[in-house]
Amino acid sequence: MKLQLALLVLGATAVLGQIVPRSSWCPVPVSPRLPRLRGPARYIIIHHTVTAPCYNPHQCQAALRQIRDGHLRRKFRDIGYNFLIGGDGRIYEGLGFGIRGEHAPNYNSQSIGIAFIGNFQVGLPPGQMLQAARTLIQIAVRRRQVVPNYTLLGHCQTKATACPGRHLLDELRKWPRWQKKP
Ligand SMILES: [Zn+2]
Repeated sequence: MKLQLALLVLGATAVLGQIVPRSSWCPVPVSPRLPRLRGPARYIIIHHTVTAPCYNPHQCQAALRQIRDGHLRRKFRDIGYNFLIGGDGRIYEGLGFGIRGEHAPNYNSQSIGIAFIGNFQVGLPPGQMLQAARTLIQIAVRRRQVVPNYTLLGHCQTKATACPGRHLLDELRKWPRWQKKP
């Protein structure tokens, strides 16, 4: 019994350190016609989705589909973000690495966009969401999808918007490679 529990915990930890593939939530693969990023990105830009929070994989996968539908209605090519962080502490693949997102005008061709599912104008994301985002940034550096001396920014530092919410922005200020000025 103890062993089973230990294996379960080990399994959950392993899942939390991995990227959940897009195929888990979206039946439509990324179109091969979407524009690519040229080389490693110079910026990581953090967003919040301003949608309801999700607390388990089922809810988060439904949230991802809703966010994508919303973006398609706004005439985006696909979901605008490269990755999304669920309230379940999982890292969800949106467009994934190597694809130019639609999340931060003037920065899309040089950045990876990571969105926290929820609204963080009113409070801070739970610790497991913050941890997931930091893990994703480490993965991006390790896979050379961002330059090692990347610049971390909140969306509101690139244009007039409340995104990613003031509580999340306050948290980002403490992270390595956050920069005051883009
Ligand atoms: Zn944003």
